Amino acid sequence: MIEIVGGGLIGLSCAWELGRRGIDAVVYERDPLGSGSASWAGAGMLAAAAEAFPDAEWQRIANESAAMYPEWVAAIGGSIDFVAAGEAGEGHVDPRDLLRELSAQVEVRRRDVASLDELDGEQVVVCAGAWASRLGGMPTVEPIKGYLLAWDGFSPGTLPGILRSGHTYVFQRRGGRVIAGSTEERVGFDRTMDAARLRELGERAVELCPALKGARPDTAWCGLRPASLDLRPVLRRIDQRTVAAYGHYRNGILLAPWTARWVAGEIQRQLGK
Ligand SMILES: Cc1cc2nc3c(=O)[nH]c(=O)nc-3n(C[C@H](O)[C@H](O)[C@H](O)COP(=O)(O)OP(=O)(O)OC[C@H]3O[C@@H](n4cnc5c(N)ncnc54)[C@H](O)[C@@H]3O)c2cc1C
Repeated sequence: MIEIVGGGLIGLSCAWELGRRGIDAVVYERDPLGSGSASWAGAGMLAAAAEAFPDAEWQRIANESAAMYPEWVAAIGGSIDFVAAGEAGEGHVDPRDLLRELSAQVEVRRRDVASLDELDGEQVVVCAGAWASRLGGMPTVEPIKGYLLAWDGFSPGTLPGILRSGHTYVFQRRGGRVIAGSTEERVGFDRTMDAARLRELGERAVELCPALKGARPDTAWCGLRPASLDLRPVLRRIDQRTVAAYGHYRNGILLAPWTARWVAGEIQRQLGK
């Protein structure tokens, strides 16, 4: 049995991909449906072209992962709010739909893993996001807090595509919900909501998208992006039993299918399957 610590998008995607290859995996997640995860909080832009990646290799991987998305979403099936990248610009996906569909197809157990020593799987995959280095012996990762705002009253198709200026973006899910982001702060694991930051994000969003002027956001939330010290995802074998797959920082939703494929391949190699 393969044990996966963390049921955010990365952990669930790894379990799903292993399952596709006939390898049993169980995901341990402490929160219902990863509700405290970065994946739950993420905007879901598949921004391989707009984001700055740490080097040419990660840019190539980002492009490849974006290209995997249409087939991946179709293979997962169910009801996923997804727009593929194309002539209208970059794609996007609702990560909560992915979490729901994937967790219905893999084995997830509610469990808060205190130490990797308590696990007895033949292989262990650490997908614990910003919390991964709390598990001990794992490369350092730090939380970078980000806020998002959402407006629900707009008809689908009101916005032309993804509007972006620097780190501010506004776009509309296929279902109509308008999403605006984001902010970046190093404030540890604090997830309290700060009204001044939200107001400032709202003002930036209106500047970028005048259609939002006068409309009050319906929802605001924040999440913790997992960032390694050099901002590269930590995607490597740690020892004979342990694989790390975390630290995807601003692009873990985009990088999920590629990461799952890499992890499943690595596990298969190790098991000789
Ligand atoms: C505001 C914001 C906007 C973003 N926008 C985008 C975007 O547009 N596009 C994009 O690609 N990415 C975006 N991201 C980044 C993306 O969300 C993350 O990179 C990605 O979700 C990381 O996934 P993960 O599974 O590694 O971590 P997480 O989703 O954080 O999942 C880790 C899970 O592990 C669980 N866990 C941790 N420790 C333990 C333990 N000891 N035992 C049991 N469970 C444990 C946690 O509860 C959590 O559910 C955004 C992030 C934020 C915060």
